[in-house]
Amino acid sequence: MTTAISPDLLPLTAEDGPSGLSVGGVPLAELGRRFGTPLFVYDEEHLRQRCREAITAFGPGNVAYASKAFLCTAMARLAHEEGLLLDVASGGELRVALHAGVPGDRIVVHGNNKDDGELLAAAAAGVRHIVVDSFDEMDRIERLHATAGIAPVPVVLRVAPGVAAGDHEAIRTGGTDSKFGFGLATGDAAAAVRRARKSAAMVLAGVHAHVGSQVLDATRLADGAAAVARFAVGAGVDGLTVGGGLGVAYEAGQTVPSFADWATRVRAAARDAGWRGEITVEPGRSVTARAGLTLYRVGTIKRIKGIRTYVGVDGGMSDNLRPALYAGRYEAFLPRAPHAPRPLRARVVGKHCESGDVIIDDAALPADLRVSDLLATPVTGAYGYAMASNYNKLPRPAVVFVRDGDARLVVRRETWDDLLRLDVPGPGPGAAGDHRADLATGRHPATAQ
Ligand SMILES: *Cc1c(COP(=O)(O)O)cnc(C)c1O
Repeated sequence: MTTAISPDLLPLTAEDGPSGLSVGGVPLAELGRRFGTPLFVYDEEHLRQRCREAITAFGPGNVAYASKAFLCTAMARLAHEEGLLLDVASGGELRVALHAGVPGDRIVVHGNNKDDGELLAAAAAGVRHIVVDSFDEMDRIERLHATAGIAPVPVVLRVAPGVAAGDHEAIRTGGTDSKFGFGLATGDAAAAVRRARKSAAMVLAGVHAHVGSQVLDATRLADGAAAVARFAVGAGVDGLTVGGGLGVAYEAGQTVPSFADWATRVRAAARDAGWRGEITVEPGRSVTARAGLTLYRVGTIKRIKGIRTYVGVDGGMSDNLRPALYAGRYEAFLPRAPHAPRPLRARVVGKHCESGDVIIDDAALPADLRVSDLLATPVTGAYGYAMASNYNKLPRPAVVFVRDGDARLVVRRETWDDLLRLDVPGPGPGAAGDHRADLATGRHPATAQ
């Protein structure tokens, strides 16, 4: 493929101009100079539009943004402003959502192994519901109700629907091999409903299933919805959540269902299963992925005769783990020449001490690519910054939101000093004893608010 980058992979407000590609009215070249690289750039208008599309498709009150895809204070606030609920999956995500001003009753709490601190924080915040994942978690909620005096909590039961790819029968026992949820096929889901109904510590508010992520075939999502809807109807519960999972295009030519397609398919499947109520969804990736892109600076170009060309950029697996983790694939382009043909084949690699530190295995790039070029990888708005690490002690990148010609720094770049923030000073002059006290109490950050 030697064609220019497809507009389908770019944020909605991407526009070509005299200074190359701009997003949100700000040239990417300017953002790279002003904020440094690597840099996550989000098109705020695109984020808001995706939120609105989801609400139009599923109805107000029926969309929870799965914050694990990308969370910071600004993102939590944006999703809340657009009328989405927030789905959090840890005490830390809950902390950020509350800090952003999202009211507890707009937050739903996930997690397959919530500890006491997380359950207490959720109860204290008055969350909309806790998605209960196991009998052990029920034990814990009942103990906290009895000993810590927490009020009965609304719970939604996570069900493992046993749905596998291409399986139109929707349920098969093999699909119950998951760490998440109460198995439908094993009878655990039915037992969980009975136990929640009897418990004084829980108020049963519905059932939930999430079949997977980056699903490009709406049939699979509909199959999952059908399975859990059938169960919900049989169990006589009032609430139905079908999770997230709608895929996005990372490369040109991939086609993905719209929110409207997803809603139509899921509604039809649930209706066929006898469901008459509302349906809640939890999109993550499909809200943020294409709204975001990463800017890198090219530092080295190594041409190995007869083998391949390596293009080294100033980030890598510490800001985009998906290629190493899931063989995730991306494209790249040069913001200075977004319409340039891309005849050069090269492996785009990061600066970590691993050969597996690959961002794009076989990227198409313009022939005149040179050291110090700004290089962009589109569709990095989900599970990029969220999975960022300090591997090799690289400071994590900054995040900017752009809109109407304005660039707003929403997460600052880490500094080398930040990398020392958690190190406990050793014995000697100036050793801070109170750091040790913090360690000794081992207080859960979620309970310390
Ligand atoms: C990860 C997750 C989501 C979001 O998945 P996406 O594929 O990002 O849409 C929604 N619900 C639950 C329970 C999840 O674990």
